[in-house]
Amino acid sequence: MTHASSEILVIGAGVIGLSAALRLRQAGLRVTVLERGSVGREASWAGGGILSPLHPWRYRPALLQLATAGMQQYPNFVAEIQAATGIDPEWLASGMWVLNSPEAPLPADAPAWGADWGWQWQQFSAAEMRARAPFLHADSALFCPEVAQVRNPRLLAGLRAYVEQLGVAIHEHQEVEALARQSHVWKVSTHSAVWESERVLLSAGPWSKTILERQGISTSITPVRGQMALLQGEPGALPQIVLEGSHYLVQRKDGQILVGSTSEDVGFCKGNTEEALAELRAFAERVFPAARAADLLQQWSGLRPGSPDNIPYIGAVPEHPGLYLAAGHFRYGLTTAPITAELLRALILEQEPPLDPTPYRLPLSPKA
Ligand SMILES: Cc1cc2nc3c(=O)[nH]c(=O)nc-3n(C[C@H](O)[C@H](O)[C@H](O)COP(=O)(O)OP(=O)(O)OC[C@H]3O[C@@H](n4cnc5c(N)ncnc54)[C@H](O)[C@@H]3O)c2cc1C
Repeated sequence: MTHASSEILVIGAGVIGLSAALRLRQAGLRVTVLERGSVGREASWAGGGILSPLHPWRYRPALLQLATAGMQQYPNFVAEIQAATGIDPEWLASGMWVLNSPEAPLPADAPAWGADWGWQWQQFSAAEMRARAPFLHADSALFCPEVAQVRNPRLLAGLRAYVEQLGVAIHEHQEVEALARQSHVWKVSTHSAVWESERVLLSAGPWSKTILERQGISTSITPVRGQMALLQGEPGALPQIVLEGSHYLVQRKDGQILVGSTSEDVGFCKGNTEEALAELRAFAERVFPAARAADLLQQWSGLRPGSPDNIPYIGAVPEHPGLYLAAGHFRYGLTTAPITAELLRALILEQEPPLDPTPYRLPLSPKA
């Protein structure tokens, strides 16, 4: 069975695919989204919702300019979604403590470095930390006031409701199995249908790699598993986000505390382990002693779409007219979703891009 054609087909309904669908629809395109499972149930759901490049000093400007733009766009992005749908994504300007530790020492010049990017970072000694954040057990720390959080499952629910309201057609349980281009038209096959479109946007997280490989295109996208634990805390007990190395704590408005996260190279295998739970709990209880009394509510994992230097691919796929890619956002896909969507809209519609797209281009595949 062949379905009616669309002006753009989006493959994958994570935060990247949904945000892009929103901006493309608002620009006037007829948009259809194909999702293998249910909307927004993979990494975009599993993530912590911290809106920051976490340790910016480790990264190249290409990632930082994307993250900074994303952070700046969030207040308007969530306000727009909430105004249209009534769903509150709980964007909260919590600020974030970055704790100094032997495993993850803070650079001595961090505040000066942050100022170059317009961030108002302040460094605090262990004694100052005891006065300012008595709920934490911490050595010296950096405070990053511009870091906010979003409750990502609610953001996804809001995005879905918004795009559907605008007329985007979403088809769940439609796993894309093959892509083929014939006479300027892409034919996209799932188990039950063939969809036609002049343009296709591939935003299938780490699975984008597999879909592209079937086209003979190799990328360096890799799945990186992250496990999380959820504890029940007292509302307001942990007013700021806390980061130490790759571990963090984020408290939601209702008191629930996310404890993240592992970084594991286990291929496309999702699943939870006792070791990870023990690691996350030990971290939480060490830096936030009140966590010792907190009940465990849930444990889950997600697959981050990893990429070289954590710089995502955003833009046209070379030598495949009409095929676009937006994947490889690694730990920062929630942070960078709004600006990724703006950039895609500009590139697909050949408009002035909001930032230089060069660093995000997919290189030409070497010829076989
Ligand atoms: C534990 C964890 C913590 C994180 N914390 C943060 C954080 O605090 N801040 C932050 O900014 N980022 C965070 N991230 C990263 C962020 O979640 C990801 O970068 C982002 O969600 C990637 O979005 P995506 O839309 O590309 O991928 P996904 O959310 O994985 O969406 C891809 C979609 O494509 C679908 N799909 C796959 N194959 C097919 C197919 N063949 N056909 C149709 N559909 C298909 C999938 O089912 C999925 O719904 C975290 C990630 C994890 C796992």
